[in-house]
Amino acid sequence: MKIGVLALQGAFIEHQAILQKLGVETVQVRLPAQLEDLQGLIIPGGESTTIGKLARDFNLLEPLREFGRHQAVWGTCAGAIFLSKDIHRRQPLLELMDISVERNAFGRQVASFETDLDVPALCTVDPDERPYHAIFIRAPLIESVSGGARVLSALPDGRIVAARQGHWLATAFHPELTPDTRFHQYFLELAKSASTP
Ligand code: GLN
Repeated sequence: MKIGVLALQGAFIEHQAILQKLGVETVQVRLPAQLEDLQGLIIPGGESTTIGKLARDFNLLEPLREFGRHQAVWGTCAGAIFLSKDIHRRQPLLELMDISVERNAFGRQVASFETDLDVPALCTVDPDERPYHAIFIRAPLIESVSGGARVLSALPDGRIVAARQGHWLATAFHPELTPDTRFHQYFLELAKSASTP
């Protein structure tokens, strides 16, 4: 199993560290050719405008879309914005997932926070059901899901913070910044099933 981490900007090293801890081979992706032989790709948090513009300038947008049509892709925070179809403003997006996202929905950097989430789907990788501690840094919200997208987790007031559509995963928070590896394990399962004919 070989998983790529889009390494244009943002927290890609942290994702690599968790994947390595799980015994998975990882590749930093900056060029279209580096997508070959990968079973999945993580798009890290950072700044979605920067990630989008660099992807456009490096001619990565179409290769990333093509990769995503067949293989698993997970966007965390800025990566979730980049993966979405609609953010009500113009910036380069992959436009794969049927989710509408509001950037910086919780306010400025000082409004960043941590909270425990209920994520029932994680029991597929660990039957010991317990809350998932999530770190939100100038985070987006998933305003709505449509098409084949499904809610994986929401805050107590119903605001959506994680969604899945087939082999695509979007989280508004940063699972690479906590020692809990369940979200990475969950993504590896998606990657396995997407790449098994
Ligand atoms: N605020 C950033 C954006 O809109 C996302 C922040 C993050 O990835 N932690 O792109």
